[in-house]
Amino acid sequence: MNNLNNVAVFCGSSRGRKQIYIDQAIELARYFVKNDITMINGGGSIGLMGIMTDEMIALGGKSIGVIPLHLKDLEVAHSDMDEMIVTHDMAGRMKVIVEMADAFVSLPGGFGTLDELFEVLTLSQLNIHNKPVGLLNINGFFDPLLAMLDKMRAEGYLSEFSSDLLLVDNEVEGLCKKMKKFEKSGFSVQKIIDQKTEKIG
Ligand code: AMP
Repeated sequence: MNNLNNVAVFCGSSRGRKQIYIDQAIELARYFVKNDITMINGGGSIGLMGIMTDEMIALGGKSIGVIPLHLKDLEVAHSDMDEMIVTHDMAGRMKVIVEMADAFVSLPGGFGTLDELFEVLTLSQLNIHNKPVGLLNINGFFDPLLAMLDKMRAEGYLSEFSSDLLLVDNEVEGLCKKMKKFEKSGFSVQKIIDQKTEKIG
């Protein structure tokens, strides 16, 4: 069982066009507060990110922002988080988040969100961390992405070991349950080499 004390959230710096995305982001913030989980995010005050932080603060939960200097200077940093860690650049930000968080969750978003999601998955794939990575598939938002992952698997670019690293659920409780139970299994350098050098049949 994994202890989820600090969970990093990757999500849009935009709000999205449907209320259901906002409602589910708020639901995740409520789950965090109810379960005494500190939320770590990119520290921005805008979009789903800002909405989640506002809810955490309103409910008396703890939130920590990790923001690179140039974004802070754009004055988009949330001003009321419990802690705001300012890093030199984006790479430094991710390093801090990966060290601090016990798990990572992605909600709907754009390039930034997908970049963060795939970075933590890649680091797990390379055994640089063993932490759970979850995808909250609100309103089927990620269905096309999951279809792409199936395609990558079918075409031999994604191993079973790697695709099992991504935990997916439509609901907050279900996803958090999966993240608590997650145990990485089957990592072997040889397996990776075998998969990457597999001959075309
Ligand atoms: P996007 O999905 O492209 O909207 O980017 C959102 C993700 O990138 C978030 O998880 C943040 O970590 C990061 N990000 C993007 N814009 C900002 C911003 N203005 N302030 C802080 N973080 C941001």
